[in-house]
Amino acid sequence: MNSFGWYLLGIILLLDGMWALFGGKTSFKGKGWVHPSIDYSILMIILGSIFLIGTRLYFKNKQSITKYTICPNCKQTYNFKDLKDGKCPTCKDTNTIEIEQYYKDNPFKDEDEN
Ligand SMILES: [Zn+2]
Repeated sequence: MNSFGWYLLGIILLLDGMWALFGGKTSFKGKGWVHPSIDYSILMIILGSIFLIGTRLYFKNKQSITKYTICPNCKQTYNFKDLKDGKCPTCKDTNTIEIEQYYKDNPFKDEDEN
């Protein structure tokens, strides 16, 4: 499921909770249309908020990972969208690596160079 799907789910839960809170009826399986309890409304609002905030945070992190890359050859960092096919413009045909991935693979690289 993409971010839009998760957002939609969060919004539906949130609206359902608010609808129930203001006296709307919700259809439960086997029970038909009933007025849900306050507990149900609050639970839906909390769940909806978690989905919305969680989705936002998750996809924000995911984006930032591919936003900046580093060239393993000249150690120059780049904005990924400025690069052509993710290749370093200085060292021709050298693929740049996502910064987070680079530091995961080379955790002591900085200290060695100092
Ligand atoms: Zn380079």
